Amino acid sequence: MDHFLYRDGALYAEDVAVADIAAEVGTPFYVYSTATLLRHFHLFDEALEGMDHLVCYAMKANSNQAVLRTLAQAGAGMDVVSGGEYRRARAAGVPGDRIVFSGVGKTEEEIRTALQGGIRQFNVESEPELAVLNASARALGVTAPITIRVNPDVDAKTHAKIATGKSENKFGIPIARAREVYRMAADMPGLEIVGIDVHIGSQLTDLAPFEAAYRKVAELTETLRADGHDIRRLDLGGGLGIPYERTNADPPLPSDYGALIKRTLGHLGCEIEIEPGRLIAGNAGLMVSAVIYVKSGEGRDFLILDGAMNDLIRPAMYDAYHDIVPVTEPAAGIDRAPIDIVGPVCESGDTFAKQRMMPPLAAGDLVAFRSAGAYGAVMSSEYNSRPLIPEILVKGDQFAVIRRRPTFDELINRDTIPEWL
Ligand SMILES: *Cc1c(COP(=O)(O)O)cnc(C)c1O
Repeated sequence: MDHFLYRDGALYAEDVAVADIAAEVGTPFYVYSTATLLRHFHLFDEALEGMDHLVCYAMKANSNQAVLRTLAQAGAGMDVVSGGEYRRARAAGVPGDRIVFSGVGKTEEEIRTALQGGIRQFNVESEPELAVLNASARALGVTAPITIRVNPDVDAKTHAKIATGKSENKFGIPIARAREVYRMAADMPGLEIVGIDVHIGSQLTDLAPFEAAYRKVAELTETLRADGHDIRRLDLGGGLGIPYERTNADPPLPSDYGALIKRTLGHLGCEIEIEPGRLIAGNAGLMVSAVIYVKSGEGRDFLILDGAMNDLIRPAMYDAYHDIVPVTEPAAGIDRAPIDIVGPVCESGDTFAKQRMMPPLAAGDLVAFRSAGAYGAVMSSEYNSRPLIPEILVKGDQFAVIRRRPTFDELINRDTIPEWL
């Protein structure tokens, strides 16, 4: 569910007409709904009611300061995967003890930043990382709270580029080696083991892979406890998918997911952390773009937009489907015809949709890409020297630019011509 609906023939973001935002900031742009962000956060929070828990929003999905502040004020923790994300979370007002640090390649500098600034836990992904963390903590005279990310060798049945829980993936340590690695960690005086971490992938549309992974985590918890480790916290990762394409087989709800967690892990008495990203931010955002040209080709027509793959890379990168709707509601019963929807970038991959059934559109008309709030703006680039597009946050009848469009001078002046040239 989201808060982008037609009212009297015009698409609204909560109580703001999308066309009014376009008139003020120009196209293309991203627009996010506060109400949808909060609704999704609360669905997860409520799904875990009755268990000691923290929802740590995976901020790589959308890390705008205003989005982080919105969720942090509602009580969210954050899952960060770099020193930059750690700094962003702190700058948005998230206390260190609500931040978990994930990622396979944490550098010594990133580790030090988090140890000095305060951290809830590091989710450690390898033995060399354990050693660096131990040394850094000892040098600073502190103890680093850790979980170890285990790779349960479960097929998440999602796109190969976002599956992370098979043994061939770079993430975590093989679950079969967990006892040995926990023993090593226990012998390092700079570390304090607090639990276990797992994250098997993104855009999962079925609970079965979660269930398989969580059953292995339950078993491992008991084994590690018998080995003398104080396993009191389980970080279960993120990954619950969203319905990009309206079908009859919608992904499971956060409440189903919460019930699964209680069923598989509730008996262990652990504090639970989850790290949803996409399900919180995905349907809370649109990318809005204008038609530049309608072009007739050989056997097919093209809708050429001012938004492109550098602004929203998911279709090019993951063959992702996004619903694309006109900002002015088409008349009921209007004829639709197949058309290719593309951007202006000089790559054939700059194609958002092929042979999509669309009502007639003309130059200047606005369209909105739905479900663009996660892995949209954060993955954008300035390829083809197209400035990063602005981000807008709506709350009720108010809206604000939360990242402005850079000027061409800013874009060009980031480069330096050496004096010897
Ligand atoms: C990407 C990621 C998440 C979030 O995944 P979503 O599919 O956006 O929910 C959570 N945890 C880790 C470690 C991740 O890498």
